[in-house]
Amino acid sequence: MTILVTGGAGYIGSHCVQQLINAGEKVCVIDNLSRGHRESVPPEASFFQIDLLETDRLTETMKSQRIEKVIHFAALAYVGESVEDPLPYYNNNAAGTISLLRAMRNSRVSQIVFSSSCATYGIPENIPVTEESSQRPINPYGWSKLFIEQILMDCAHSYPNFGFIGLRYFNVAGCAHDGSLGEDHSPETHLIPNCLNTALGQQSEVTILGNDYPTEDGTCIRDYIHVEDICAAHLLALNALTPDSRCFYNIGLGHGYSVLEVVKTTEKITGCEIPITYQTRRPGDPPVLAASNDKISRELGWSPQYTTLESIIQTAWTWFQNHPDGYQSPISLTSENKSKDHP
Ligand code: UDP
Repeated sequence: MTILVTGGAGYIGSHCVQQLINAGEKVCVIDNLSRGHRESVPPEASFFQIDLLETDRLTETMKSQRIEKVIHFAALAYVGESVEDPLPYYNNNAAGTISLLRAMRNSRVSQIVFSSSCATYGIPENIPVTEESSQRPINPYGWSKLFIEQILMDCAHSYPNFGFIGLRYFNVAGCAHDGSLGEDHSPETHLIPNCLNTALGQQSEVTILGNDYPTEDGTCIRDYIHVEDICAAHLLALNALTPDSRCFYNIGLGHGYSVLEVVKTTEKITGCEIPITYQTRRPGDPPVLAASNDKISRELGWSPQYTTLESIIQTAWTWFQNHPDGYQSPISLTSENKSKDHP
């Protein structure tokens, strides 16, 4: 069977493609490369540069590649950007997923693992957040993911054999344990990469976006989970997926760290001082997010391998040191690590 991975040239998608290949799966990647990196797709995967909104090309590809199941990562995923400019979020994420689901129906593919987000919960009533917590997003990114969750539920209700598993990620961080894949965003807005870029001297300081939150040190608390643990959850979900699947799982460590704790931990790992400045809150940021991961542990047997912030940041530090310019760093620009392009 061939697995279609949308967004397979992106940060989480590329790590997942590698794990699928390591597990002996055939993989077909589609990505519009608006934010992904062609260099991050391993040679064993076939690659098609297609946008989610190109329903006909998606359909053709699913038929020609004999796709059996889909893992759907492709999305815009910056909270702040979604507040400043919401329409691309609804277009890429919601309309793009509708187009993908149409192509799946056209080519009789009926099973999908979907990347959802803790942003669907908004400001949670209780921490840790369980899957049953109310979902009231506070930014367009979160809404776009929640709309897709509803669309998937409706498809499962109306279309025979349509099965899905949605994974609600908390804060994904870290890089591949062997240093082969990493995090390379442009623009870079995420906290851990910003701390590491500061340690490398590529930026002068880290701006802390709000220190008047109702938390112990006044900064936001997030549940950071290693990208390889996220990918392992996808492989378990893929194996568990049946035409009757219709469920959502949180993926997080189960406890959070404040922004200041992340800065301090990065200083410890890198041995560099990280200057900070304070700014006002970023719109759309809830004060505290931390997952209950009981459901996925119980039902799919998942457990995180990286259980400390130190171990997560250490893998990212290895990548950032070796790839100061991300995938454009000389170490990444070997022709052998590119898979064959399809028109
Ligand atoms: N954050 C910060 N400074 C930065 C980047 C992020 O203070 O340069 C804060 C942000 O407000 C949030 C937390 O760090 O509370 C994690 O943000 P990130 O962008 O890494 O992930 P998100 O929570 O948006 O998925």
